[in-house]
Amino acid sequence: CGVMAVYNHPDAARLTYWGLYSLQHRGQESGGIASADGEHVNDIKGMGLVSEIFTDDVLQKLPGHLAIGHTRYSTTGDSALLNAQPISVESTKGLIAIAHNGNLINLGTAKERLERDGAIFQTTSDSEIIIQLVAHSKCTTLVDCMAEALAQVEGAFSIVMMTRNRIFAARDPHGFRPLCMGRVTGEDGAPDTFVFASETCALDLLHAKYERDVEPGELVMVSEDGVTSRHFAKGSVPPASCVFEHVYFARPDSKVFGRWVQKSREEMGRQLARESAVPADLVVPVPDSGVTAAIGYAAESGIPFNFGLIRNHYVGRTFIEPTQRVRDFGVRMKLNPSRALLEGKRVILIDDSIIRGTTSRKIVRMVRAAGATEVHLRISCPPTISPCFYGVDTPSREHLIAANKSLAEICAYIEADSLAYLSLVGLTHSCTTGEPLGGLSPASFCTACYTGEYPTQMIDVSEILPAP
Ligand code: 5GP
Ligand code: SF4
Ligand code: MG
Repeated sequence: CGVMAVYNHPDAARLTYWGLYSLQHRGQESGGIASADGEHVNDIKGMGLVSEIFTDDVLQKLPGHLAIGHTRYSTTGDSALLNAQPISVESTKGLIAIAHNGNLINLGTAKERLERDGAIFQTTSDSEIIIQLVAHSKCTTLVDCMAEALAQVEGAFSIVMMTRNRIFAARDPHGFRPLCMGRVTGEDGAPDTFVFASETCALDLLHAKYERDVEPGELVMVSEDGVTSRHFAKGSVPPASCVFEHVYFARPDSKVFGRWVQKSREEMGRQLARESAVPADLVVPVPDSGVTAAIGYAAESGIPFNFGLIRNHYVGRTFIEPTQRVRDFGVRMKLNPSRALLEGKRVILIDDSIIRGTTSRKIVRMVRAAGATEVHLRISCPPTISPCFYGVDTPSREHLIAANKSLAEICAYIEADSLAYLSLVGLTHSCTTGEPLGGLSPASFCTACYTGEYPTQMIDVSEILPAP
């Protein structure tokens, strides 16, 4: 998912909308914006793309100088309008709205406790737990209630929250998902506008200057009194920033965890070329996710790069549409081979990951049918052997091809002439080499989907296992 917040701008909802537009790649199932003018809170949510939901007329129904927004793809909770965000809860503490990226992992006990306490849940989304905890907290100030609530939940959360006159932003202590803070300097001495966003690409369109990331375990509050911050986490928690953000999820023009995704991805391609070279005539990316790594692979190997697969840009990310049927048809709608480039060529195909293997198999066939004499598939991360419980929609283990087949078997299944994955060491090296890093080291990352070693305890896993 993508989250966004704007504080102190006369057209906060419109700025939030632009931000969500830039974050659309993080989820295309539903979107929503809540705005406030100091007294009233309004929210509008819908299914589909933000540009379909928020026409000019609709944006006019969201007045006020503060707003939060969300663009969703479901990991837990049904894919329905009911679970679209922001979710708002009216309580003795006033109305609180939340937009959440990530997955909570100890839902069961917290939810039972709240229901015994009289909470009535409006959604089946895990995100609602956080505001219900805030609403039922016995602390005196709202920010104390929030800190208490956040200290009680486990898992991945990069969240923005809003009341009628304040914005809050927080990240879980592991820092699984990104969240950054930016600022638009006020004109002619006017006060500054503060912006929070999942990725820095959402700041660019607003001319907001990137200030810093919200830190793992930090709760930031913006109000009339300015910006305040506190750490809510008890004890020290090892960092576990999602490496898959750099592999696939985030946009290459974003700085994520203080590191340009572009740099990481290009280096993944270079490292892949060093680790698994093969004689060939052409390096071809699977667009868009394989493009940056393919550029790196071509640069390192000296083999020419070209777009041998053409993507129809009016079709969204295929895996984000939840049913298998849509996914299958989606591949052919989305990609078509360029025979002029592929005919008679030994091709190195670069993609970011193999999940089920069905897409990769179709693409390999497509490239061969277009006249390629050899098809060598190179993947810019290690084999995906374990599901993600922290906000990325990987299917359960039985559907993960690399959890069930050897490298040779996968290669045979996808009908490639050869197959190689980037090593784990190669991957974390790629995300931490060269460039100022904002403190990242290979140990800063969660790599659980490649190792099966989860950085958190798993409680009530049955609650959150993604549907097959
Ligand atoms: P596959 O060969 O596994 O069917 O598809 C691989 C391609 O689709 C990769 O580009 C990968 O990023 C994307 N993909 C397909 N399905 C999923 C999924 O369920 N989860 C994720 N994270 N990516 C997927
Ligand atoms: Fe990211 Fe994989 Fe960890 Fe999930 S399990 S947070 S996708 S690295
Ligand atoms: Mg892809």
